[in-house]
Amino acid sequence: MSAFDSSKKLIVETAQSLVQKGYLMATGGNLSLRIAEQNAFAVTPSNYDYMKMTADDVCILDFNLNPLEGELKPSVESAMHGAIYQVRGDVNAVIHTHQVYASALTLIKSPIPALFDEQTRFLGRSVDIIPYAPSGTGMLKNTVAKHVKNHNNAFMMQNHGALVFGHDMERAVHNVEILEKCSLAYLLALCSEKQVSKIPFAIREIAFLKLRKDQKKVEQGIIETGGE
Ligand code: 13P
Ligand code: ZN
Repeated sequence: MSAFDSSKKLIVETAQSLVQKGYLMATGGNLSLRIAEQNAFAVTPSNYDYMKMTADDVCILDFNLNPLEGELKPSVESAMHGAIYQVRGDVNAVIHTHQVYASALTLIKSPIPALFDEQTRFLGRSVDIIPYAPSGTGMLKNTVAKHVKNHNNAFMMQNHGALVFGHDMERAVHNVEILEKCSLAYLLALCSEKQVSKIPFAIREIAFLKLRKDQKKVEQGIIETGGE
Protein backbone atom coordinates (compact mmCIF):
# COMPACT_ATOMS: atom_id res chain seq x y z
CA MET A 1 0.00 0.00 0.00
CA SER A 2 1.27 3.48 -0.80
CA ALA A 3 -0.24 6.92 -0.29
CA PHE A 4 -0.82 7.05 -4.04
CA ASP A 5 -2.76 3.81 -4.57
CA SER A 6 -6.28 5.20 -4.81
CA SER A 7 -5.16 7.93 -7.23
CA LYS A 8 -3.39 5.39 -9.45
CA LYS A 9 -6.48 3.17 -9.46
CA LEU A 10 -8.69 6.10 -10.42
CA ILE A 11 -6.36 7.00 -13.31
CA VAL A 12 -6.52 3.44 -14.71
CA GLU A 13 -10.30 3.10 -14.30
CA THR A 14 -10.90 6.47 -15.93
CA ALA A 15 -8.50 5.84 -18.82
CA GLN A 16 -10.11 2.49 -19.60
CA SER A 17 -13.59 3.93 -19.40
CA LEU A 18 -12.56 6.75 -21.79
CA VAL A 19 -11.23 4.14 -24.23
CA GLN A 20 -14.49 2.20 -24.02
CA LYS A 21 -16.49 5.37 -24.68
CA GLY A 22 -14.25 6.22 -27.67
CA TYR A 23 -12.61 9.38 -26.30
CA LEU A 24 -9.16 7.82 -26.04
CA MET A 25 -7.83 5.87 -29.02
CA ALA A 26 -4.70 3.71 -29.33
CA THR A 27 -2.17 5.28 -26.95
CA GLY A 28 -3.13 8.89 -27.75
CA GLY A 29 -3.96 11.36 -25.00
CA ASN A 30 -3.07 11.29 -21.32
CA LEU A 31 -4.64 12.08 -17.96
CA SER A 32 -3.59 13.14 -14.52
CA LEU A 33 -4.86 13.72 -11.00
CA ARG A 34 -3.54 16.18 -8.42
CA ILE A 35 -2.54 14.62 -5.08
CA ALA A 36 -2.64 17.76 -2.96
CA GLU A 37 -1.50 16.23 0.33
CA GLN A 38 1.73 14.97 -1.24
CA ASN A 39 2.28 18.02 -3.47
CA ALA A 40 2.37 15.65 -6.43
CA PHE A 41 0.30 14.33 -9.31
CA ALA A 42 -0.44 10.95 -10.85
CA VAL A 43 -0.11 10.74 -14.64
CA THR A 44 -0.44 8.04 -17.28
CA PRO A 45 2.76 6.49 -18.67
CA SER A 46 3.89 7.44 -22.18
CA ASN A 47 2.82 5.48 -25.26
CA TYR A 48 1.23 2.68 -23.27
CA ASP A 49 -1.86 0.61 -24.04
CA TYR A 50 -4.61 1.85 -21.70
CA MET A 51 -6.39 -1.50 -21.67
CA LYS A 52 -3.20 -3.25 -20.44
CA MET A 53 -2.46 -0.56 -17.86
CA THR A 54 -2.48 -1.42 -14.14
CA ALA A 55 -2.18 0.85 -11.12
CA ASP A 56 1.53 -0.01 -10.85
CA ASP A 57 2.12 1.47 -14.32
CA VAL A 58 0.87 4.93 -13.31
CA CYS A 59 3.62 7.50 -12.67
CA ILE A 60 3.74 9.78 -9.64
CA LEU A 61 5.66 13.04 -10.12
CA ASP A 62 6.29 16.10 -8.00
CA PHE A 63 5.82 19.54 -9.54
CA ASN A 64 9.49 19.67 -10.55
CA LEU A 65 8.71 16.49 -12.52
CA ASN A 66 10.88 14.32 -10.26
CA PRO A 67 9.55 10.74 -10.25
CA LEU A 68 8.25 9.65 -6.83
CA GLU A 69 6.83 6.27 -7.89
CA GLY A 70 6.49 4.20 -11.06
CA GLU A 71 8.95 2.45 -13.35
CA LEU A 72 7.59 3.59 -16.71
CA LYS A 73 8.35 6.80 -18.61
CA PRO A 74 5.68 9.38 -17.75
CA SER A 75 3.55 10.97 -20.49
CA VAL A 76 5.45 13.39 -22.75
CA GLU A 77 2.83 15.98 -21.70
CA SER A 78 3.63 15.64 -17.97
CA ALA A 79 5.17 19.12 -17.84
CA MET A 80 1.97 20.53 -19.37
CA HIS A 81 -0.18 18.77 -16.74
CA GLY A 82 2.09 19.99 -13.94
CA ALA A 83 1.99 23.57 -15.25
CA ILE A 84 -1.83 23.50 -15.37
CA TYR A 85 -2.04 22.50 -11.70
CA GLN A 86 0.33 25.32 -10.84
CA VAL A 87 -1.64 28.05 -12.59
CA ARG A 88 -5.12 26.67 -11.82
CA GLY A 89 -5.65 26.04 -8.11
CA ASP A 90 -9.26 24.97 -8.83
CA VAL A 91 -8.21 22.10 -11.13
CA ASN A 92 -7.59 18.66 -9.67
CA ALA A 93 -7.97 16.49 -12.78
CA VAL A 94 -6.72 17.05 -16.33
CA ILE A 95 -7.69 14.96 -19.35
CA HIS A 96 -6.04 15.38 -22.75
CA THR A 97 -7.68 13.42 -25.58
CA HIS A 98 -7.51 13.22 -29.36
CA GLN A 99 -11.34 12.99 -29.47
CA VAL A 100 -12.49 13.27 -33.05
CA TYR A 101 -15.03 16.09 -33.23
CA ALA A 102 -13.12 18.55 -31.05
CA SER A 103 -9.98 17.65 -33.03
CA ALA A 104 -11.82 18.45 -36.27
CA LEU A 105 -12.58 21.96 -34.97
CA THR A 106 -8.88 22.48 -34.23
CA LEU A 107 -8.13 21.88 -37.93
CA ILE A 108 -10.30 24.83 -38.97
CA LYS A 109 -9.13 26.81 -35.91
CA SER A 110 -12.72 27.37 -34.92
CA PRO A 111 -13.37 28.13 -31.23
CA ILE A 112 -16.79 27.10 -29.91
CA PRO A 113 -18.81 30.14 -28.84
CA ALA A 114 -21.43 29.91 -26.06
CA LEU A 115 -23.94 27.57 -27.74
CA PHE A 116 -25.58 25.77 -24.81
CA ASP A 117 -26.35 26.54 -21.16
CA GLU A 118 -24.60 23.43 -19.81
CA GLN A 119 -21.55 24.24 -21.94
CA THR A 120 -21.09 27.65 -20.30
CA ARG A 121 -21.94 26.31 -16.85
CA PHE A 122 -19.24 23.65 -16.93
CA LEU A 123 -16.75 24.48 -19.72
CA GLY A 124 -16.71 28.27 -19.51
CA ARG A 125 -17.54 31.22 -21.75
CA SER A 126 -16.12 29.60 -24.90
CA VAL A 127 -13.88 26.72 -25.93
CA ASP A 128 -10.82 28.45 -27.35
CA ILE A 129 -8.13 27.23 -29.71
CA ILE A 130 -4.65 27.09 -28.21
CA PRO A 131 -2.18 27.85 -31.06
CA TYR A 132 -0.12 24.96 -32.41
CA ALA A 133 3.04 23.80 -30.71
CA PRO A 134 4.56 20.33 -31.14
CA SER A 135 3.46 17.58 -28.71
CA GLY A 136 5.52 17.13 -25.60
CA THR A 137 7.50 20.38 -25.93
CA GLY A 138 8.19 23.20 -23.51
CA MET A 139 6.66 25.49 -26.12
CA LEU A 140 3.33 23.64 -25.85
CA LYS A 141 3.52 23.67 -22.04
CA ASN A 142 4.16 27.44 -21.98
CA THR A 143 1.42 28.23 -24.51
CA VAL A 144 -1.08 26.10 -22.58
CA ALA A 145 -0.11 27.60 -19.21
CA LYS A 146 -0.76 31.09 -20.63
CA HIS A 147 -4.15 30.27 -22.18
CA VAL A 148 -5.71 28.34 -19.29
CA LYS A 149 -5.59 31.35 -16.97
CA ASN A 150 -8.97 32.50 -18.36
CA HIS A 151 -10.80 30.06 -16.00
CA ASN A 152 -12.39 28.01 -18.79
CA ASN A 153 -12.42 24.23 -18.30
CA ALA A 154 -12.07 23.06 -21.91
CA PHE A 155 -9.68 24.00 -24.69
CA MET A 156 -8.76 22.73 -28.14
CA MET A 157 -5.11 22.45 -29.14
CA GLN A 158 -4.61 23.35 -32.79
CA ASN A 159 -3.96 20.31 -35.05
CA HIS A 160 -3.82 18.13 -31.95
CA GLY A 161 -6.78 17.52 -29.65
CA ALA A 162 -8.72 18.49 -26.55
CA LEU A 163 -7.67 19.59 -23.06
CA VAL A 164 -10.29 19.37 -20.34
CA PHE A 165 -10.28 20.09 -16.59
CA GLY A 166 -12.38 19.30 -13.55
CA HIS A 167 -12.30 19.92 -9.83
CA ASP A 168 -12.35 16.12 -9.67
CA MET A 169 -11.98 13.27 -12.17
CA GLU A 170 -15.70 12.63 -12.51
CA ARG A 171 -16.31 16.27 -13.47
CA ALA A 172 -13.39 16.19 -15.92
CA VAL A 173 -14.90 13.13 -17.64
CA HIS A 174 -18.32 14.80 -17.86
CA ASN A 175 -16.60 17.85 -19.35
CA VAL A 176 -14.92 15.68 -22.00
CA GLU A 177 -18.37 14.38 -22.93
CA ILE A 178 -19.96 17.85 -23.01
CA LEU A 179 -17.12 19.11 -25.20
CA GLU A 180 -17.58 16.32 -27.73
CA LYS A 181 -21.35 16.86 -27.87
CA CYS A 182 -20.84 20.62 -28.43
CA SER A 183 -18.14 19.99 -31.05
CA LEU A 184 -20.34 17.64 -33.06
CA ALA A 185 -23.40 19.89 -32.83
CA TYR A 186 -21.32 22.92 -33.85
CA LEU A 187 -19.72 21.10 -36.79
CA LEU A 188 -23.16 20.00 -38.02
CA ALA A 189 -24.51 23.53 -37.63
CA LEU A 190 -21.51 24.95 -39.54
CA CYS A 191 -22.17 22.48 -42.37
CA SER A 192 -25.63 24.00 -42.88
CA GLU A 193 -23.94 27.33 -43.74
CA LYS A 194 -26.78 29.07 -41.90
CA GLN A 195 -26.08 31.51 -39.09
CA VAL A 196 -25.31 29.69 -35.85
CA SER A 197 -27.22 31.14 -32.90
CA LYS A 198 -25.65 31.57 -29.46
CA ILE A 199 -27.23 31.70 -26.01
CA PRO A 200 -28.02 35.23 -24.77
CA PHE A 201 -25.04 37.15 -23.39
CA ALA A 202 -26.66 37.59 -19.93
CA ILE A 203 -27.33 33.85 -19.61
CA ARG A 204 -23.75 33.08 -20.59
CA GLU A 205 -22.47 35.45 -17.91
CA ILE A 206 -24.77 34.03 -15.19
CA ALA A 207 -23.68 30.46 -16.00
CA PHE A 208 -20.02 31.47 -16.05
CA LEU A 209 -20.40 33.22 -12.68
CA LYS A 210 -21.76 29.96 -11.21
CA LEU A 211 -18.72 28.13 -12.56
CA ARG A 212 -16.39 30.76 -11.06
CA LYS A 213 -18.19 30.46 -7.71
CA ASP A 214 -17.58 26.68 -7.72
CA GLN A 215 -13.95 27.20 -8.67
CA LYS A 216 -13.41 29.63 -5.78
CA LYS A 217 -15.00 27.13 -3.36
CA VAL A 218 -12.57 24.43 -4.56
CA GLU A 219 -9.63 26.78 -4.05
CA GLN A 220 -10.85 27.55 -0.53
CA GLY A 221 -11.25 23.81 0.18
CA ILE A 222 -15.05 24.06 0.56
CA ILE A 223 -15.83 21.59 -2.27
CA GLU A 224 -14.56 18.03 -1.93
CA THR A 225 -12.24 17.08 -4.80
CA GLY A 226 -12.48 13.31 -4.65
CA GLY A 227 -8.70 12.95 -5.17
CA GLU A 228 -6.21 11.81 -2.55
P1 13P B 1 1.95 10.15 -24.25
O1 13P B 1 1.63 8.73 -24.66
O2 13P B 1 3.42 10.36 -23.99
O3 13P B 1 1.07 10.58 -23.11
O4 13P B 1 1.63 11.08 -25.50
C1 13P B 1 0.36 11.03 -26.09
C2 13P B 1 -0.10 12.37 -26.54
O5 13P B 1 -1.28 12.53 -26.74
C3 13P B 1 0.87 13.47 -26.75
O6 13P B 1 0.22 14.67 -26.94
ZN1 ZN C 1 -1.85 14.44 -27.63
